[in-house]
Amino acid sequence: MSDEKWFVEHFDSAGTAFGLRLKARLEAVQTEYQHIEMWDTDTFGYLMTIDGATMVTSRDNFLYHEMMSHPVLFSHPDPKRVVIIGGGDCGTLREVLRHPGVEQATQIDIDEMVTRLSEKYFPELCESNNDPRAELLFIDGVKWMRECDAGSIDVIIVDSTDPVGPAEGLFKADFFRDCHRVLRDGGIIVQQSESPLLHSVSIIRDLHVNMREAGFTSTQTLPFPQPCYPSGWWSCTMAGKGTDVTRFREKDAAAKPFETQYYTADIHRGALTLPPFMKKALS
Ligand code: SAM
Repeated sequence: MSDEKWFVEHFDSAGTAFGLRLKARLEAVQTEYQHIEMWDTDTFGYLMTIDGATMVTSRDNFLYHEMMSHPVLFSHPDPKRVVIIGGGDCGTLREVLRHPGVEQATQIDIDEMVTRLSEKYFPELCESNNDPRAELLFIDGVKWMRECDAGSIDVIIVDSTDPVGPAEGLFKADFFRDCHRVLRDGGIIVQQSESPLLHSVSIIRDLHVNMREAGFTSTQTLPFPQPCYPSGWWSCTMAGKGTDVTRFREKDAAAKPFETQYYTADIHRGALTLPPFMKKALS
């Protein structure tokens, strides 16, 4: 895993690794669900890992949090009720609440300790936790979705760990059938969908199949850079219930009333154009 000077995540299935030079390990907590560690690094600020996998760093989390929230919200005609499954570091919640039209954002993470550690080490990601529109629940997202009322949500964001352990059920067709039922007509789900380079012919393609089997009529993957994740190249995959997710509110995105460090209407438009190898893998 790491010697006294480096944190190294080995991604054995791909034969790759990612490392950050360390100042110190700050916390190690075994919860009912996972092992969470906090590290102080030389060049990426704080690092949170869960079961040895990089989750979030101070320096590059903006790429992921912006691309997990703004494309889906600008693809929906008028998102008011948003649910985030996972997302315990609260960075996605902060981005969602930048949209003035959003009336309620409910974050459902199975492990409260992720949020408590994020409040301590990533307070900038938690700055919207007390927004009156925010609701934080600490339960299993699979169970919550199964029990949620039909036709009650506009956008679902699945900001989960990799499809193993507690997050495994969040990648299955049954979960997407529940999401389809819970979404209002025109609703959209977006899921973090791993690495285009390492997973296009597996996890990403399976996501499209499972989402369409669940009844979604339009699916689209958007690649984006994410240095601290395996291969440094990540993605999110959207699925629309009657909404075409290959199009978005371009004028609204171009005139967005908030600052971002990565997302723009042009970046969104560019991310909709997949490279030939991905088009082939997903066809
Ligand atoms: N950005 C990270 C990534 O792409 O790997 C994910 C960030 S967030 C820390 C992932 C969260 O998913 C964790 O806080 C974990 O507790 C949560 N999670 C995993 N399985 C879950 C489930 N079944 N229900 C709700 N949250 C879950």
